Amino acid sequence: MPRCPVCDAQVFLRSTAERPATPTAPFCSDRCKTIDLGRWLEESYTVPHVGRVEDDDELAEGFDETLVSQ
Ligand SMILES: [Zn+2]
Repeated sequence: MPRCPVCDAQVFLRSTAERPATPTAPFCSDRCKTIDLGRWLEESYTVPHVGRVEDDDELAEGFDETLVSQ
């Protein structure tokens, strides 16, 4: 089962009888998609980022969203 590269939550690429496919695959949510894009941009331009969003809070919220959607 593929997992979100940001928070490691399960991502569903195909719909089944139990639950729909994740619309934001390969990310579990728009939030993680945005986080990953932000990281990628940071690495690409190597811009120092002060006041970074607290990752722990972001991860917890993304995981909760996944559970609710199942
Ligand atoms: Zn995620």
